[in-house]
Amino acid sequence: MPSAKQYQLHKEYYKKYQETQRKEWEKTLAKVKSKGCKICGYNKCLGALSLHHRKPEEKIFAVNNSCFRKNKDMLKKEIYKCDVLCVRCHAELHWREQHDE
Ligand SMILES: [Zn+2]
Ligand SMILES: [Zn+2]
Repeated sequence: MPSAKQYQLHKEYYKKYQETQRKEWEKTLAKVKSKGCKICGYNKCLGALSLHHRKPEEKIFAVNNSCFRKNKDMLKKEIYKCDVLCVRCHAELHWREQHDE
């Protein structure tokens, strides 16, 4: 059994590791999103930009802030399937998919 101190150290280490992972992922995501919305060019706020899968059948998971625990290669592959869209264009696109024709 690890001592309480060891356990505490491990917890601290793990927390720091997660924090680094999260920051690194946020940076990657910011870089991807920095080109702005593919439809209207909006790029003012990263929080209002999202990644849209061009082909829904290729989607394994949604690419967002909470993906930092995922495998980097998996993330890269998933990003390649996506276009950057602002929330408004994204919502309009999915609305049209469901309501047109
Ligand atoms: Zn847009
Ligand atoms: Zn979408």
